Amino acid sequence: MSDAGEVRDEKLDAEAEARRRVALAQIRQYPDPALRMKAHDIESFDVDLTRLVEQLEHLLGDANGLGLAATQLGVLRRVFVLRPDPDEESKVLVNPRLVEGSDERVTDDEGCLSLQGVVIPVERHERVTVEAQDPEGNDVRLELEGLPARVAQHELDHLDGILILDRTTPDARREALAVLRPQPVIVRS
Ligand code: ZN
Repeated sequence: MSDAGEVRDEKLDAEAEARRRVALAQIRQYPDPALRMKAHDIESFDVDLTRLVEQLEHLLGDANGLGLAATQLGVLRRVFVLRPDPDEESKVLVNPRLVEGSDERVTDDEGCLSLQGVVIPVERHERVTVEAQDPEGNDVRLELEGLPARVAQHELDHLDGILILDRTTPDARREALAVLRPQPVIVRS
């Protein structure tokens, strides 16, 4: 297996694995209704935004993920962090817009920090151009290709309440829902 969508494929030591579990417990999990809601534009670049960005970066690092959107913390504001390469600093995109997507599309497996245990095929643009603002309110424009482009499209979807379940094949969706269905608790007396 390799890095899939939001989920990095990496063996963690016991301490890092414990940190990852704590972080995942703070990330909303399917079928939390916040994951289906549309986030609102950010209008003020204030201390609340700074704190939210710090929290996103901290949880993304501990969860060992490639991207994380505010909606996954139950905060309906249009901001996400991207870190497709663990050796590089994360990128924070505020009020991001997909301004261009290549005609060339690629299907690859994707996971999601809010859908644990699910890895399903999703078709995405191979290259995208995203315009956004940074946390200080400056305009930024990113041209992304391959995995970073895939993660950016995944996070843009989160801000609109769209999940990989909505973008996969009917068969893969059925299998994913079976994994996500709460397991019955057997009570013995
Ligand atoms: Zn996700």
